[in-house]
Amino acid sequence: MDSAILTGIALEFGAPLYVYDASKIEAQYKRLTSAFNKVPHLRLNYAAKALSNLSILRFMNQLGAGLDTVSIQEVQLGLLAGFQPESIIFTPNGVSLEEIEEASALGVQINIDNLSILEQFGSKFPDVPVCIRINPHVMAGGNSNISVGHIDSKFGISIHQIPHLLRIVELTNMRINGIHMHTGSDILDIDVFLYASEILFETAKNFKDLEFIDFGSGFKVPYRPGDIETNIEELGKKLSKRFNSFCEEYGKELTLAFEPGKFLVSEAGYFLAKVNVVKQTTSTVFAGVDSGFNHLIRPMLYGASHEIVNISNPEGRERYYSVVGYICETDTFGSNRRINEISEGDILCFKNAGAYCFTMASNYNSRFRPAEVLWYQNKAHLIRKRENFDDILRNQVDVEVLKPKADQAVS
Ligand SMILES: *Cc1c(COP(=O)(O)O)cnc(C)c1O
Repeated sequence: MDSAILTGIALEFGAPLYVYDASKIEAQYKRLTSAFNKVPHLRLNYAAKALSNLSILRFMNQLGAGLDTVSIQEVQLGLLAGFQPESIIFTPNGVSLEEIEEASALGVQINIDNLSILEQFGSKFPDVPVCIRINPHVMAGGNSNISVGHIDSKFGISIHQIPHLLRIVELTNMRINGIHMHTGSDILDIDVFLYASEILFETAKNFKDLEFIDFGSGFKVPYRPGDIETNIEELGKKLSKRFNSFCEEYGKELTLAFEPGKFLVSEAGYFLAKVNVVKQTTSTVFAGVDSGFNHLIRPMLYGASHEIVNISNPEGRERYYSVVGYICETDTFGSNRRINEISEGDILCFKNAGAYCFTMASNYNSRFRPAEVLWYQNKAHLIRKRENFDDILRNQVDVEVLKPKADQAVS
């Protein structure tokens, strides 16, 4: 989206503000579907946790996506957004048997990632088909916080436990209709991904009633100019071919599923924040914005680098800045960035703000969470109101015994 449109939206709705471009989401969705157009049955289950606004979910449903959910609340949001239960897969980690039963009762596909729950669920509901999450012990990404398929990961059932898994399936007489892996965010190397896929195919041969194989996600998108991104087209070509030949060998046309989050929404998002103060110190120039890691935690949590541009002065001469937030602890969005000259009151735009940005926002420092706007068919639609003081007080119980007595009340 260009600077003029974004500044107009900031003027209308105020800052800080999240803006999402529906056409970019659609373009990414189509890019992925066309990369796999040689696969007869493809399912893209959007990972709701990346950006879970109801309007975004409705838009994904319109596009024809399914939904990948990790909590019973995300399942409920998906149903509310209009997804059919069959189009929702529930892929939690470390949740109770009760929560899995609750999701199953709503008719969604269950994906189980540990043997204890598998045995309990299978014994109780042998007729409900379940998917199993396999940990192939392959490290597809670079950062161990976001690589979830390696040996020490808490996710998935280890491939070394397949004999035990098969015993559970046989004894409970349950049906496994899908197998799944999610090796974590940031697939840098397609060959590593294909290698993990081979492990999944090998595992799949143990189950005769499969309907789908789910390869999870982790597609990398560029955050900065020059960043490498997953070559979707190459992955599509290689994996499709291998998948189709596996289906032939298996004797059935299976569905190939993915669960992209970041790939679909990251680049569609823009976070707009106003500069409160430009502060020169002995060593740097800080631009302090009316936001902080309460609104966008990825730089502080993951060391993520979001490109920052000054949309109020796009032609200005470039200077070096450290962009920081207003939270009362170290709260850096970017150090030593070359940005078009910043004046107080300018609007800075943080790119790649669609995935894991608003959904990770909090009220830390008793601040309001931002509003969200969807840019759809050349029009800005408010899809979440800015919070106000009532939201800060919501659910707080002002206990009688702690209230000041009338005679002690401060006047
Ligand atoms: C978070 C998550 C995803 C989405 O990952 P991205 O890197 O955002 O594409 C997919 N599957 C599962 C099980 C997840 O937990």
